[in-house]
Amino acid sequence: MSTMKAVQYVQAGSKPRIVELPIPEPGPGQVLLRVLAAGMCHSDISVMGWPAEGFPYPVPLTLGHEGAGEVAGLGAGVRSLSEGDRVAVYGPWGCGTCHKCAGGKENYCTRASGLGIFPPGLGAAGAMAEYMIIDDPRHVVPLNGLDPVTAAPLTDAGLTPYHAIKRSLPKLVAGSTAVVIGAGGLGHLGVQLLRTLASTRVIALDVSDRALELARGVGAHEVLRSDEAAAARVMELTGGLGAELVVDFVGTDPTMRTAAGCVAVEGDITIVGIGGGTLPVAFGAQPFEVSVAAPYWGGRHELIEVLALARSGALTVHTETFPLEDGPEIYERLHRGEITGRAVLLP
Ligand code: NAD
Ligand code: ZN
Ligand code: ZN
Repeated sequence: MSTMKAVQYVQAGSKPRIVELPIPEPGPGQVLLRVLAAGMCHSDISVMGWPAEGFPYPVPLTLGHEGAGEVAGLGAGVRSLSEGDRVAVYGPWGCGTCHKCAGGKENYCTRASGLGIFPPGLGAAGAMAEYMIIDDPRHVVPLNGLDPVTAAPLTDAGLTPYHAIKRSLPKLVAGSTAVVIGAGGLGHLGVQLLRTLASTRVIALDVSDRALELARGVGAHEVLRSDEAAAARVMELTGGLGAELVVDFVGTDPTMRTAAGCVAVEGDITIVGIGGGTLPVAFGAQPFEVSVAAPYWGGRHELIEVLALARSGALTVHTETFPLEDGPEIYERLHRGEITGRAVLLP
């Protein structure tokens, strides 16, 4: 039997490791993908920090929920793809039939957890391997010429900010301001999405100079150090009115305090980061009619839209690439805040 290498979270509480596994066979209705690129998301650091007791996913778990590759095998009955097709993986797998899934919002599938359906890398075997199984052909989107190294991060670091920002577009009129807190993998794409989808002024906040430099390089009008004074600085820059949108890609108590401290009347606070913080919401705790949302990933149709934006040249994904074998060490570097943009593993 031929084997492959994979980055696995072997046991809850342990460090991820390189393991040798059999190359999987696609069952009926499934697709075998030869992985060409796998992005590394900060969420995995949180997942690997959860306690062993009550860990929600089966282990050992092959990591990686941002994948792109080439179709290498088709299970019985798969007609919509051919071997050799290059595709990106839509990660938030749902049941495909509930009302949310029928609208393309598989990220909000109401039946997935009951049916034991998990995203690749977050329950099912993920993209940090030479091959992976896609449970259904609807969970891939054709690359149509897009580089897999660019496409892999777009499946989450692009799709999640796209979905998060879209709800606020009617508020991001000329003269408005949008604040991006955390200009990492998601945030540097968030800045570009705001620039391309709206005529808003973009202010990026981060604690890392390299991230601030990247944010400016990809189109932020202003960059600020993310500290206790940042909210006041945004208020100053907006003539005391605040920002129509604050997207928090960190999600800790201090960043949410900043968000509440610089959002405008009728503005949106959108919490994407899973940093464990909380935001007290009450009458008077934030300006009038502020809306707070904590969205998760994005819809299938939205991934198609994000890839189209990238193809049009509107998005530049800043990546650092590494061989798959370096995965465990690169997780350490991500944890230490030493990655700028997105780390992408090449199996
Ligand atoms: P990343 O490590 O690439 O980027 C995080 C950035 O935040 C870095 O540039 C870091 O310097 C900066 N940062 C850290 N502390 C800060 C602070 N106090 N103020 C401002 N900036 C600060 O991470 P990522 O992969 O882009 O993920 C961002 C967050 O989004 C993570 O919490 C991740 O788990 C979460 N996430 C959520 C979803 C969702 O669907 N809601 C999807 C993907 C990722
Ligand atoms: Zn992620
Ligand atoms: Zn569903």
